[in-house]
Amino acid sequence: MGMRSAVRRWERLTRPVHPETAAVLAERWAALPEAVRTPAQSLGRHAVGCEGTHGVFPKCNLTCTPCYHSADANKVRVDGTHTVREVDTQMAYFRERRGPYAHAQLIGGEVSLLPPEDHAAALLRMRAHGREPMSMTHGDFDADYLQRLVLDDAGALRLGRVSFAAHFDSLMRGRRGAVRPRTEAELHPFRERFVQMFLDTRRELGLRYYLAHNMTVTPANVGQLAETVRAVLPMGFSMMSFQPAAHVGDERRWRESYQEMSIDAVWAALEEGVGHRVPYEGVEFGDPRCNRTAFGFLADGSWVSLLHPDDARDMAARDRFFDHFGGVAFTGTAPHLLAVKVARVLRHHPGDLVVALRWAARTVRRTGGARRLAGAARRGTLRPMTFEVHSFMDAAQVAPAWDLLQRGIVAEDPELLATQERLTACTYTMAHPETGQLVPACAQHSVLDVAENVELRRLLPLTVVN
Ligand code: SF4
Repeated sequence: MGMRSAVRRWERLTRPVHPETAAVLAERWAALPEAVRTPAQSLGRHAVGCEGTHGVFPKCNLTCTPCYHSADANKVRVDGTHTVREVDTQMAYFRERRGPYAHAQLIGGEVSLLPPEDHAAALLRMRAHGREPMSMTHGDFDADYLQRLVLDDAGALRLGRVSFAAHFDSLMRGRRGAVRPRTEAELHPFRERFVQMFLDTRRELGLRYYLAHNMTVTPANVGQLAETVRAVLPMGFSMMSFQPAAHVGDERRWRESYQEMSIDAVWAALEEGVGHRVPYEGVEFGDPRCNRTAFGFLADGSWVSLLHPDDARDMAARDRFFDHFGGVAFTGTAPHLLAVKVARVLRHHPGDLVVALRWAARTVRRTGGARRLAGAARRGTLRPMTFEVHSFMDAAQVAPAWDLLQRGIVAEDPELLATQERLTACTYTMAHPETGQLVPACAQHSVLDVAENVELRRLLPLTVVN
């Protein structure tokens, strides 16, 4: 390689924002409904949104109430070859349509029903397409499975870092040792055991990991949410995500009306558990009726927000971040490349360094001072903690709204219009290379899953007849 082409390659590698990402972000921003194009909006300015798989392993071995899978999902055989091929195809399409980098969930039924070899192969295909994968699980698997997932045949780490979102709530039936839990508290030992399994694997093999705790919220367990937050915070997860139940998926698993399960009620219970306000208004991710997210960290058990929406200096720092650093891939980029990318931004905006230092100093003060922060780091109690509520919509609303959207018709009915707005600002997308569509997860589960699982049932029957 000549000197000139080496310099060109280095210039491309350290360009702060990949040109394809910049183009996808601009396209995303232009397509967002006016109402969500706020200064807080990260979609289309920093993020292209999350991605997820569909139709790759629909079966699950727990029975939850509610369950957003269609009634046929459990009649589809888990087939690793199918999974890896489909994941590869869907991720290649995301790469083509949504640029070189995004977070993507390996989601279906239960991921640990996949043989570890195939699970690992699927994750590696996702990475090969620039996707940072997260495996979605009910958490009821053993350390042996985790080791076989991350180690190759020679005993070397084939996955040095993994991310899991583990779903634990008392609406789930069939977990080993807690077949019919009556309370959330009964599940705390299982939550702890899940984290401990990763801690042990880190000690033994050097595995790095990121763990999220997911929980469906219905009128039946919302009263236990605050206590659950208090109990889960010290366990070692880095995210707590709550999904107010919606009427979607298998109707036989709907036990009660979920109508009253508002995003406000769930957030209020979360704040009660944290013990103070958890401000989410500083950063929006799509439509606030769908998502609320609060970024922060835990220091000695206290949660500290990274942004205070009431502090004009924090909001000014956020604006600068979106304007100058929006689209920079902070995760998934090698540290030395990231350092050069950041330096290249600062070369054009040197004042950002002062703003960043002042923001850091305010955050340290809010934690109780540098000494307290250093003490927490020494004691190992300093850890990122993101809170999120993701409020899926009822199929009865999504199906007609999606149908109208497909035909280019703006709904007149206010509720359908609101649903269309949310679908247009969706942050969680599924790929359909066969039709050239990118589909919001709500539309996938409310509309497309049914026919897809009927077809998969034919393709991958539970019983193979020779
Ligand atoms: S999946 Fe549904 S609830 Fe989630 S962001 Fe998309 S439209 Fe909103």
